[in-house]
Amino acid sequence: MDDSNIQQFFDQQHVWHPYSAIPPTIAPLLVESAKDCVLLLDDGTELIDGMASWWSVIHGYNHPKLNLALKNQVDKMSHVMFGGLTHQPAIELCQLLIGITASSLDKVFIADSGSVAVEVAMKMAIQYWHSLDKPQPDKTQFLTIKQGYHGDTIHAMSICDPDNGMHQIFGNMVAQQYFCEAPSLCTKENWFKQSIQPEIEAFHQQIQQHHQHLAAVILEPVCQGAGGMRFYSPEFLIEVEVLCKQYQVLLIFDEIATGFGRTGQLFAYEHTQHNGKMVVPDILCVGKALTAGYMSLAAVLTSNAISQTISQGPVKAFMHGPTFMGNPLACAVAVESIKLLLASDWKTNIARIESQLLNYLSPLKQNPLVKDVRVLGAIGVVELHQPVDMQRATNYFKVQGVWLRPFGKLIYMMPPYCISDTEIQQICTAIKGYLQQI
Ligand SMILES: *Cc1c(COP(=O)(O)O)cnc(C)c1O
Repeated sequence: MDDSNIQQFFDQQHVWHPYSAIPPTIAPLLVESAKDCVLLLDDGTELIDGMASWWSVIHGYNHPKLNLALKNQVDKMSHVMFGGLTHQPAIELCQLLIGITASSLDKVFIADSGSVAVEVAMKMAIQYWHSLDKPQPDKTQFLTIKQGYHGDTIHAMSICDPDNGMHQIFGNMVAQQYFCEAPSLCTKENWFKQSIQPEIEAFHQQIQQHHQHLAAVILEPVCQGAGGMRFYSPEFLIEVEVLCKQYQVLLIFDEIATGFGRTGQLFAYEHTQHNGKMVVPDILCVGKALTAGYMSLAAVLTSNAISQTISQGPVKAFMHGPTFMGNPLACAVAVESIKLLLASDWKTNIARIESQLLNYLSPLKQNPLVKDVRVLGAIGVVELHQPVDMQRATNYFKVQGVWLRPFGKLIYMMPPYCISDTEIQQICTAIKGYLQQI
């Protein structure tokens, strides 16, 4: 065995990978380096990346400006505790986040990862009700829609889809929450046209029945990610917001996957703009693309009203504070990433990717194996009738020079925004080829 084989063997014998066994059923590929949209494997293979490392690498790998931001920060300090101390990278990041989100969102909690951001958002909602002059200690549960994904920590898990999530395994540990059917799939052309009445009726019933116990409704707006890669009408959110206000339940949007332009708007909630109004959540979670895939970081934004209530409540503090909160390296690279995004013509670029994906993926609907093809912004999804054979698919894609990681019945892509038209075509051609040869 040569060195890299020995390393891979060690990996398979000792190292856990996401949702996998030791040894894994499919051996992970050994990546040597990455540049722009291309992963270079140790055996010399180059793969065009269709995954952006799970939505995060929006500007491509090894970006000189992001690298420089990080190098500059390393020479100042890599970390200082955030309790009692603060620093320029965190301040600048929060200024930027407040600047690019709706005006009512003006307080920021910096968290270490998406799942933790969801935990923080849930704690924030519960602590809000606890902190009112007339406290409502019973409001500790959450209402959500099925087929959602919000992370892997215990409380985030409780609001993931109850069937494809992990509820069964962890039994009583998983808090009991309330679930509504997910709104039906809806393409952009049919937004605000297709009736959402039945779905919203079902939602209305749940919130009416349980509002005394509900701290918040939590949803991925417009695009449900890892729970099924589903796109639904923003009109649903407009109705949800009305009902939340009516029944005094907070509204949390989890934009950890959708934030920073992925769906064609900077944040997916902006798709709700209609008749001069827009739905803005009480609490917003962002993550994944926040640092352009450089390191783990997330943030939770909320309103002045919620932060004031918590700050003036019995505890006089929001009760969360991780060791690596506001890590300067992560904040510095996040600042640079947001600046890069805003300085680019990202909207035109995402529209370009969207039209290319539609162009190449839509014809696949003709294939009898295919149940649905859907595209929103820089996200392309091919849903099959049957589960994808992951080993066979990833092998095939590797031979075609493409990195995709299907799950369940889905072959999907959300590439870095710097992907070229030719690279999009190469990925889509590989998907087409795979479907033709099975
Ligand atoms: C990925 C994801 C999370 C969890 O984020 P991690 O950083 O993996 O903990 C939560 N919510 C949504 C919508 C996500 O896509």
